[in-house]
Amino acid sequence: MRGLFEGKVPVRGLRLMLVTSMAGCATVPLPEGAAAGDVEQRVEVQPCVVFGERHDRRRYEGVAELSLEPWHQAIATIVLQHPTVGTIVLDPAFGVEIAHDLSRVPPWFRVVSGSAEGKQPAVDGLQAAGIDPRSVREVLLTHSHWDHTGGVRDLPRATVRMSQPEYAYVGSLEHYLEPGVLRHQLDRAWKRIEPFGFEGPAVLRFEGSHDVFGDGSVIAVPLPGHTPGSAGFLVRGAGGKRWIFTGDSTWTLRGIEKPAHKTVPIDLDRAVTGESIGRLHALHLEHPEIEIVPAHDADALDLLPVCGSP
Ligand SMILES: [Zn+2]
Repeated sequence: MRGLFEGKVPVRGLRLMLVTSMAGCATVPLPEGAAAGDVEQRVEVQPCVVFGERHDRRRYEGVAELSLEPWHQAIATIVLQHPTVGTIVLDPAFGVEIAHDLSRVPPWFRVVSGSAEGKQPAVDGLQAAGIDPRSVREVLLTHSHWDHTGGVRDLPRATVRMSQPEYAYVGSLEHYLEPGVLRHQLDRAWKRIEPFGFEGPAVLRFEGSHDVFGDGSVIAVPLPGHTPGSAGFLVRGAGGKRWIFTGDSTWTLRGIEKPAHKTVPIDLDRAVTGESIGRLHALHLEHPEIEIVPAHDADALDLLPVCGSP
């Protein structure tokens, strides 16, 4: 993601983006009918964030909107402290081998990913927060892209949970890099992956659900499109405040508020992504008390405490 429009944006490129903006706004359908019931989440988990990288960009680079407002972009790892499960790591962004990972990607991808410089491995952030990586027994993935799975290898004792369609998708990939996935990041953890289905009831605006730990603390919901098995995770934090971590359905909360697609055509299925964005938009209108946290929106992530902070 980083470096996509590094430096000056040529006028022709800007025009192209503006055209994309207008096309993007029209293609986010809103869900029909009433929302499904809510889910009771009695067990509280404490979320906090470990930042892997932060950059200030322009909003129109992230969401299809004619705006010169800034986009505070981040790549981050979420930690959930569960009273009995212990430390749960959601999307361990970068691994300690990030420099090696990026040394083998083609130059065009380096334009997207940036270099390893300035990227903090997730385990370094965990250790700085007083969390021993070997004590982590649970990893949750919103999806399989390189900037969400890099640290899986560094959490050797964790069960890795991802949706069944995402597991099947990654299993079908053969090359070092296929749209956004560095397959080898998951190879060493492959036997530790426990795929889950969305066999549970429809929840809020989502068509299915999966109660990850069977106690209502963490509910996975389907957000397909960006990748085939992208998922969101709904949790109840301290004081009953609720959060949903929505991965890369949009890069920013603005994309859900508007609603609008990303500026860059990077979603595997744009129409299906639009449906997921529409569902999140409806949720945002109906449940403004639920804090929506897209993976790369530093302003939304800044609502969480930094792990290890007093
Ligand atoms: Zn991402």
